Amino acid sequence: MKNVFSKDCDLIDRLISLSLEERRISVEIIDLLYEIEKRKAYSDLGHGSLFSFCVKELKYSESQAQIRIQTMYATKENPEIKEKIEAGKLSLTTVTQLQKHIRTQEKKRGKQVTVEEKRKQGEKVEPEHVQESIQEPASYGITEINTESPRQKNKKPNTRSRHIPARIRREIFTRDGKKCRNCGTGFKLELDHRVPFGKNGTHEVVNLRVLCKTCNLREGIRVYGPEKMRR
Ligand SMILES: [Zn+2]
Repeated sequence: MKNVFSKDCDLIDRLISLSLEERRISVEIIDLLYEIEKRKAYSDLGHGSLFSFCVKELKYSESQAQIRIQTMYATKENPEIKEKIEAGKLSLTTVTQLQKHIRTQEKKRGKQVTVEEKRKQGEKVEPEHVQESIQEPASYGITEINTESPRQKNKKPNTRSRHIPARIRREIFTRDGKKCRNCGTGFKLELDHRVPFGKNGTHEVVNLRVLCKTCNLREGIRVYGPEKMRR
């Protein structure tokens, strides 16, 4: 695709509006699937189930089909879910996980979870979901992952190891307030070397900062070029 966006802000605006549209469309698809299921309209095309229709006609993978069908049932009981999906507060995957959790509860109890309880659990899922998304350093080429095994802990620190000691990582996260130093987000946080490790940057506190995955990747592209970062 030829890149027609000369300004980053235009590119970002376009993507944001597309992702809004994407969420709106996924809710519309859920609605239409419900209608298809209600009418069993898939049988006209020789399908025995909505699942088969989703996979063979709509070309979803099995898991994509499953996620949409489960979301469809969840929204039937709790229509508010649709608003939340559209607002980006809930993902289809989260809804599916919640459904799974409810089914496990039902099995354990030997009776159905009430609609009211399901609604309550649906409300609870948001903060948990956000919590899970805040991650300390993950691997992204120029960043750091904790590969320290218990045995390695007693070894003398190797000054050129990519490993940043847990003590230092904690210090940086505390100093930077668990937020990306560039854009302020609290999602997918990583540690970044101001002077890149690959260019002899050290793990000293002054050389480290918290960046989100995106800003870190962007920084990597700035330093190493897009080719090296594309992996
Ligand atoms: Zn950021």
